[in-house]
Amino acid sequence: MSCDAPDLLPLEEALRRLWVALPTQTLPELRAERDDPATDRASMDGVALRAAEGRTPRRLLGTLFAGDDPAAFTVAPGTAVRIMTGAALPAGADAILPVEQLREVDGCIQPLADPRTGDHVRVRGEQARAGDLLLAAGTPLNAARLALGAQEGLPLPSRPRIRVAVASTGNELVMVPAPHQIRDSNGPMLAALARSLGADVELRAALPDDPATLAAALGNPGDIRILLTSGGVSMGQHDHLPGVLKELGATILFHKIRLKPGKPMLAALLGDLLVLGLPGNPVSAYLNALLFLGQALARLEGRAAPEPWRKARLTAPVKNKGDRPLLHPCRLVDGKLEPLPGKGSADLVTLAKADACAWIESPSQEAGAKVRYLTIL
Ligand code: AMP
Ligand code: MG
Repeated sequence: MSCDAPDLLPLEEALRRLWVALPTQTLPELRAERDDPATDRASMDGVALRAAEGRTPRRLLGTLFAGDDPAAFTVAPGTAVRIMTGAALPAGADAILPVEQLREVDGCIQPLADPRTGDHVRVRGEQARAGDLLLAAGTPLNAARLALGAQEGLPLPSRPRIRVAVASTGNELVMVPAPHQIRDSNGPMLAALARSLGADVELRAALPDDPATLAAALGNPGDIRILLTSGGVSMGQHDHLPGVLKELGATILFHKIRLKPGKPMLAALLGDLLVLGLPGNPVSAYLNALLFLGQALARLEGRAAPEPWRKARLTAPVKNKGDRPLLHPCRLVDGKLEPLPGKGSADLVTLAKADACAWIESPSQEAGAKVRYLTIL
């Protein structure tokens, strides 16, 4: 029987709360500064010629490279200009005959195919006309949109690399563990994950389970934007993080979500600092970081919300005895999810074998069921 509170926050709602609580940066309205392209351009390497002259040989007047002023040439009947991709079309020409379709002898070309008007020409304004709306105000940033801004001469909003510090918590974390102690595996794991999600990461020494030390670390975060902690957010007597955050006046965005593993997840804002309080168990910490750090980074960087889920079929049934959705470690074999015999939220050994974690609604998912999954980065 499960003792989960029925009102635990669903994952999607927790992600949404985080999204709306964070500031973001989006693009201003972007209009075309000029026609795009601004002149007729060659879209292949070849010769610019008059299509109506068919296969008659042409005398070559010279060469136009991308960036050359086409005014240097006028293509009169019986002539052509060698032209490279991106170069502006010279006056008189109305088609490009690609190099593959011509022979060149003694300064003349012999077409081997019939050119047609407009062949391999990007026509002036075919992508946009001067003044056209290219991006509405508030559009999230992505690389293509930044490129478009650069093309139009818009000063680029700098895409910030978000500074993230990773700090584990727990008196049990030591460098050389006795049997009752452990090494800090979450710290390096979360730092590596944050780096693969695009953050600028600083891995800090683990913090002891001491409210004063925690308060000092939270109160003096340095120049970081996100503090990723692990441990100390559950119901144990050493789980001080929620209380310390409240005492410091933090806004708790949520604490505890409907997810297994990962229920004790906490997110809070302490001034501008986002604290993502991950549970201490490694599988919980990993999965929650993948979901919540990915979401927070996208928001702060001005990107669209990430969609980390993909779908595949299970090769075997997976039971979920609890009443929270389960993220179960799997191998991906030939595009199918092969469930691993995992031992739960502390089982780093199985997580390290996994390629994915499959979303299993309770009470179970049958073999062949198509389920969503997260890829292990
Ligand atoms: P906590 O959330 O602090 O109650 O920790 C839950 C479990 O995760 C305990 O078994 C901890 O020993 C373990 N744990 C906490 N922090 C780490 C860490 N940094 N690396 C590996 N295991 C951890
Ligand atoms: Mg702890």
